[in-house]
Amino acid sequence: MEALQRKIVNEGIILSDTVLKVDSFLNHQIDPLLMMEIGKEFAERFKNEAVTKVLTIESSGIAPGVMAAMMLHVPLVFARKRISLTMSEDLLTSQVYSFTKQETNAIAVANKFLAANDRVLIIDDFLANGQAALGLADIVKQANAEVVGFGIVIEKSFQNGGMLLREKGYRVESLAEIESLQNGQVQFLNRQVEELL
Ligand code: 5GP
Repeated sequence: MEALQRKIVNEGIILSDTVLKVDSFLNHQIDPLLMMEIGKEFAERFKNEAVTKVLTIESSGIAPGVMAAMMLHVPLVFARKRISLTMSEDLLTSQVYSFTKQETNAIAVANKFLAANDRVLIIDDFLANGQAALGLADIVKQANAEVVGFGIVIEKSFQNGGMLLREKGYRVESLAEIESLQNGQVQFLNRQVEELL
């Protein structure tokens, strides 16, 4: 997605060789028009999968997730990272090691929002080592539902999450694939940065 790649080049802040900050359009302030385009793109790519639910994780997956869900005419469910007192019902939980926070946390979804006949599209903002994605897939499995694939806004291809998921046979659709963040520069897998300037 060229508009996304251009946004990353113009507004992304490279915090280290492995971490990209995109707080001006995805992780803090949100660009709604770009999110809508992202949602349309995911919906187009998964249109033949008979998706019944989109699943993501709070908080940064919600914006692209809700747009994809809107375009597919299905509900969005987001996994909670903190289990609140109001979540008194049966919960599906999984342990997820956070790449950015470097700690393990339980994530949870109320059982009633995933049914055995659901065909679930999992959306997330970033794919790094795949732990969040695998935790979400684990929750879908516990519900005896099916994962139809993963829609990722930004995949860091130099980390092993994409490989892990594809090796397990999952379909992974990433809208921007970053090959490297070394030397303070973004390099995409399939496009020269100069084409975007
Ligand atoms: P994973 O579980 O694949 O290792 O990491 C994915 C999660 O970590 C995403 O949900 C995202 O919130 C966060 N994350 C991983 N890498 C980055 C990054 O480079 N920048 C930002 N802003 N978040 C990241």
